[in-house]
Order: sequence, then C-alpha cells, then structure tokens
Amino acid sequence: MDKIYGIDLGTTNSCISVLKDGKPYTIPVDGNGIVPSVVSLDGENLLVGRSAWNRAAAFPEQSVRSVKRLMGTAEKLKLGKKSYDPEDISAMILRYLCDEAKKIEGGDIDKVVITVPAYFSDAQRRATIEAGKRAGLTVERIINEPTAAALFYDQVKISSPDAAPVPGKTPWQHVLVYDLGGGTFDVSVLRMGEIIEVMASTGDTRLGGDDFDRRIVTRILRQIKEKDGLDLEDYVPALARLGAVAEKVKITLSESAATRVSEAHIPTPKKKTCSVSMEFSREDLEEMTDDLVERTITSVEKAMDEAKLTPDKIDRVLLVGGMTRMPIVAARLERIFGAARMPVVDPDLSVANGAAIQGGIISGANCEQILVDVTPHTLSLEVLSDRDEDYLETLICAPIIPRNTQIPATRARTFHSIIHNQDMVLLNVYQGESTDPNENTLIGGTKLKLAKADAGCPIVVEYSYDLNGIVHLVAEQKGYSRKTEIRIDSRNPETSQDLSEIEEGEENEADDFEEEAKAVNFVTQRARSLIEATTDKDKQKLLTDALKRYEKALNDDDDDIDDIEDELLALIEENAEEN
Ligand code: AMP
Repeated sequence: MDKIYGIDLGTTNSCISVLKDGKPYTIPVDGNGIVPSVVSLDGENLLVGRSAWNRAAAFPEQSVRSVKRLMGTAEKLKLGKKSYDPEDISAMILRYLCDEAKKIEGGDIDKVVITVPAYFSDAQRRATIEAGKRAGLTVERIINEPTAAALFYDQVKISSPDAAPVPGKTPWQHVLVYDLGGGTFDVSVLRMGEIIEVMASTGDTRLGGDDFDRRIVTRILRQIKEKDGLDLEDYVPALARLGAVAEKVKITLSESAATRVSEAHIPTPKKKTCSVSMEFSREDLEEMTDDLVERTITSVEKAMDEAKLTPDKIDRVLLVGGMTRMPIVAARLERIFGAARMPVVDPDLSVANGAAIQGGIISGANCEQILVDVTPHTLSLEVLSDRDEDYLETLICAPIIPRNTQIPATRARTFHSIIHNQDMVLLNVYQGESTDPNENTLIGGTKLKLAKADAGCPIVVEYSYDLNGIVHLVAEQKGYSRKTEIRIDSRNPETSQDLSEIEEGEENEADDFEEEAKAVNFVTQRARSLIEATTDKDKQKLLTDALKRYEKALNDDDDDIDDIEDELLALIEENAEEN
C-alpha cells in the first residue's frame, strides 16, 4: 500500500512526517521541518513557508498568516488582485509541504492524515478536508492534534529508567495534552486505551505566542517613544518588523538568561527611520507575560474539572507547541503535576509524527518504539538563598537543567553577586532533586573571578548537557569580560578530575575557594571601614593606595598578590590599633 503522510497544519507552523523503518520521521522541509504557515505574494511569485515568513515582516499587506483561524468561515482573503477562500490558502500550504517533501524523499505524495484541534467544529473539519482536496491530496483521515501527540508519545520509550512504562500494564491511563502554539492554546485530557478518547478539551483560540511577542513589542515601542518621541503603535510596517524582532527575543530567552535587541532602520511614518538598543532578561519576559501563562493554567484546571480528575490522576502531561519551550511554562505545570510526570518529546514535531503513525496504522505498517534520551537528574548550581538573613547557612541548589529534559539541552540562568566588589563566585554543580546541596551529588565545580562591581551584578551561568552526559558550564559576569568554563562527565563523576580534587579531604579545593573569597572580602571591607574611620589624611591616603593596589592585583590575578595583601594587612593592623 502507498505511504500515508502525516501533516500538522498549524496556525503558525506546519510540519510533514512519514514512517520510515517503523519510526516517524519529520521531513526537513525549509531546513528543519518546521514550516511557517505563511503565504506571501512577491510580484507574480507566490511564496510559501520560510521565504513567505521572511517577506511577511516587510510586506504584511501582501501576506497571509494564521489562516487556520478562518477555516470553516466564509471570509475572503486578498492576495494581490485576487481573493481567496481560507481553504485555498491552506491548500497552498499543503501543496508546498508535499512538493518540498517530495523533492527530499522522492516518490509521489498523494495520501495524507491531517490533524486539527480537538475543539474544531464539523464545518472546520470539512474545510480542512476541502483544503486537502484543493491541494490534490486524498485526506485519509482527520485526527485530533492531542490524540496525535498521545499516539506519538505512546511510541516513545524514555531512556530514564523510572519514567519508562511498566511492562504488561497500560502504562498511562490519563494524559493531559497542553498545546501552546503561536496563535492558539488548547488543553485536552485523554483516556488512553484501545482507542484514545478525548475526555475534555478546552482552551483559548485567541491566546498564543503572538501575545507574548506583543508584550515585548509594547516594551520596545515605549522605549522608542521615550527616546525619540515617536508613537508607532498603529504603524503596521514598524509593528511587523518589531514583531519579528520580539519573537527572536522570546526564543533566545528560552535558552539564554538575557539578550540584547539592537535594531536600526525601523520604519516610521515620517520617512526617516529610528533605532533601538535595549536588553531583555528572562525574568523581564516572565514578569511581562505572567498573566498569559496563568490564563493557560485556568484552562488546565477547567479541563481537569470537566474530565472530573484531580492532578494526581493525570499520569502524563505532554507539552505540544513551540511556546512550551519557554522554561516558565514547564516550570508552572511542574508545580501542579510534579516533574516526574512531565514529558520529554519534541513539542514541535509530536503532532505531525503522531499523524504519520496514524497513517502507518491505516496502511498496515509496523511501528517501532522510539528511544528518547533525557537528563536523569536535575542539574543545579549551589547558590546563597537571598531570602535568609544569615546567608552562609542557606546554601541551596538552584535548578538549571530540570530532570527529564530531552537532550542535548542548553539552559542558562542569571544569578547576582551579593556584596559590593565581590571578588569571586564559586560554581559548584550538583545533580539531584533536592534544594539542599547535602542531599544532592556534587559533580564538579570551578570559580569565576569577578571584576569590581556593585552588589547585584548579574552573572549568567549556562549549562549544556550532551548525549554523552557531558556537562559544559560557562559562567560570565555580565557587562565585564570575565568568563570561565569547565566540562564535567556527569555519568562518571567519581572519575572526573575536577570532582576528585574537590572531594578530597581537608585540603578540599571548594573550601579553599570559599575561604579565599571570605578572606578577600574581610580584608577589603576592613580596609574600607578604617579609611572611613580615620581622620588622619596621610594614613587615609596610605590605606586607600594600598587597597587600590590590592584590588588591582586581584583583578589582574597578579603574581605578587600575597606581598601586596601582606602590605595592606600590616597597614590595617597598625591603624586598627590606633582606632
Ligand atoms: P507552533 O504554533 O506550535 O508552531 O508554535 C509557534 C510558537 O512557538 C511561536 O509563537 C514561536 O515564537 C514559539 N516558539 C518556537 N520556538 C520557541 C522557543 N524556543 N521558545 C519560545 N517560544 C518558541
């Protein structure tokens, strides 16, 4: 029988997959398989996918995005001089996916399974079948997106032993699918069995990644207004351009703790252009969009109510849609369901892959299990909790890469120095689920020498975890060129050179760092308070000069640091006696 391809015809992006040797495989159309659901007219040329998306930012009037929202309506869409039904535009996207996939795969693509949201009405489903027909395809079946995600997930065998299904038992009875895409949010509760039943489905057809982007755009517009006195709130060319910038900021902040926007030549109605340069941190974004995330949580609670289930009865929570890559989304759901029930599959591809599995089932193909590698433990950094006054006694582990994250993974977080002119920070890497470092395993560590700065200076710590279990840590003092990096083998910490040095006896390197940091802080603070206390101008100058030399030597990692420190200590002692 002919191959049946699976298509996720999404609001923002679409994707085409097929079974290959029993496993679903996403065809890398447009490079990585995630194809923007955008159509744009360039003169006589019709562009679809990535090239249309690129053009849409500059020519929004000649482009169509998010046509899925209009499926099943009688609305007409203008593209150049012609007007089209939503089905026609969707057909263009389907045709493009199949033509491009054919170039990569060879052979004809005639038969497809297309996914639709669980809430889609009959009219919307019929419109989707019609779009398939207009693209010259036979639509073998329309299936619900959450069902497709669950079908795919059912095939996934997770490499983490405690997350694997129990043999001989229905592994997961109730699955909640949380799908946050570019323009829509859906949440469904499914009962898994011979058939996959949708027990409840709710959501918000007007909530998605675009709303998050808009919050960033608002912030940028505010800065332009303050700086240049320009109000671009209703100026479409600027909004389209800044929308693309904002999306980039949002996506970057899923992996990095901070990013800078430097955008020149932003169009304005007054013929001249303007520019903007500003920094965004992940915390900023989370604060700006907190209410949007909370709206999705209200829907999650509603779906559970409808299904008459409490969180403990949900066996798995599947994340679907590009927006679920935003770390706060998973973190928020983890607070309700616990990390152990959180998923590991690629949120962008699981729907199309599930549709390909459905296509395989219809055509009688064999489906194999897919192995996914995840982090077996949370990787965290030891930090001082800032909530406790006596900070020395409140060392805690701050998670950077949570347990069960699909690998390879890179995540970063921003921490802050705690005292004025702090000389260094210790970077101890822990593995384990507790917030108490004593209950976790120290797998390695290093230190970052800091340049002089006020307390609260941001320090970005990034962990990367590769398929071989190697942790790569990069720490950087923001705004200064201070940086350090190390590699640790998390699967064999006891064989790691770094670790054995840290764990060994009383001459323990971590303690040395800590002691050194404390001693340095003591010396500098003592010198500063004496400078303030003494009224003798000469002595004040002597102390100030010695302190400056000492701080410079620390910054430069000078070889003579011990002599310079002795000199300062002698002056401190002398002055302390007098005061
Ligand atoms: P979808 O409709 O599922 O294709 O999701 C598209 C939405 O996911 C868009 O709003 C994207 O900006 C967003 N998105 C994609 N990748 C990421 C990422 N790494 N972090 C945050 N949002 C993302």
